[in-house]
Amino acid sequence: MATIKPIEARTIHQIQSGQVIVDLCSVVKELVENSLDAGATNIEVRFKNQGLDAIEVQDNGSGISKENYDTLALKHYTSKLSTYSDLESLETFGFRGEALSSLCALSKFSVTTCLASDAPKGSRLEFETSGKLRSTSVVAVQKGTTVLVERLFHNLPVRRRELERNIKREWNKVLSVLNQYACIQTGLKFSVSQQPNKGKRMILFSTKGNQTTRENIVNVFGAKTLAVLIPLDLVLELEPTNTSTQRLTTRGGNESKLIRVRGHVSRPAHGEGRQTPDRQMFFVNGRPCGLPQFAKVFNEVYKSYNASQSPFIFADIQLDTHLYDVNVSPDKRSILLHDQTRMLDSLRESLSTLFESQDYALPTSQL
Ligand code: ADP
Ligand code: MG
Repeated sequence: MATIKPIEARTIHQIQSGQVIVDLCSVVKELVENSLDAGATNIEVRFKNQGLDAIEVQDNGSGISKENYDTLALKHYTSKLSTYSDLESLETFGFRGEALSSLCALSKFSVTTCLASDAPKGSRLEFETSGKLRSTSVVAVQKGTTVLVERLFHNLPVRRRELERNIKREWNKVLSVLNQYACIQTGLKFSVSQQPNKGKRMILFSTKGNQTTRENIVNVFGAKTLAVLIPLDLVLELEPTNTSTQRLTTRGGNESKLIRVRGHVSRPAHGEGRQTPDRQMFFVNGRPCGLPQFAKVFNEVYKSYNASQSPFIFADIQLDTHLYDVNVSPDKRSILLHDQTRMLDSLRESLSTLFESQDYALPTSQL
């Protein structure tokens, strides 16, 4: 009979790392969110061979102070959350302190960083697979942080092969997530470039530090896309009739019941040829996420005004942090909205009213 023995610490680490970094898309998402959390106004995402060889994210954010080098990539070390109750008022994207530690275990990983007060003298940090700091060296860089992830899953042959096999689908997912950050973040210069195996680096898209999401949409999708969109600004109300809402009311005050859905959506007369996920974007308080139920309501209501086309949707659900929970799935893309059924009913009604409005029912050429 086989003896029962402890799994090597390193192996445990790799098993658990499966949680946050499941694919190429989660790497990109975690790194971009770290840059945003660091207050960056300029982020460059650079791929080599669609991310199979390298993913590099450079920002001009706060940088990392020397005292934090040792713990930077240790599991469950974070500068953003210290007690569980902090989660309720969380304003950062990250909170688990898992992404960098997972990346150490799953790739060739290094960080270059510099505080404003030290510029142009920064540090390049290399790590063990366990997340322990292996070496630091001095480099000339500007304020900010650059994270380089090479050969993702190089030490997990099955996952690596799977990634290579599915790279086309993965790449499309990566681009649509990047589109979401590019469109929702105002005041950010965001650029995405890719260098194929053989060939020159090309910029895929970039935003210019715009003050509005309209301008971001023009930068990412083009002026033609924006021209047929109408502004979304719906107010959904949850009446305080059941106990859960009453509880939320006492905790969050009266305003917490108010939900706004803001953004842009296709005119009923000007939809898109087919429903493509990369042109239907949902956010909760600016956090990109999958909201299949909301998407369903949008698509159904839209279909009743335009049966042959689908809408472009950019919808940011703005609500009090007490009304939802982001700590549902490791990648935080699934969000639990309290009282979702009533939100959806209210959304259905408000959307119909919007589409029925005479101004928007007509094709733009007739306005
Ligand atoms: P989390 O974001 O959940 O805190 P991460 O593993 O993603 O966990 O990052 C660990 C810590 O490293 C962060 O809390 C932050 O202090 C620091 N960090 C990561 N990326 C950056 C960055 N681009 N700029 C500044 N600090 C960063
Ligand atoms: Mg993070």
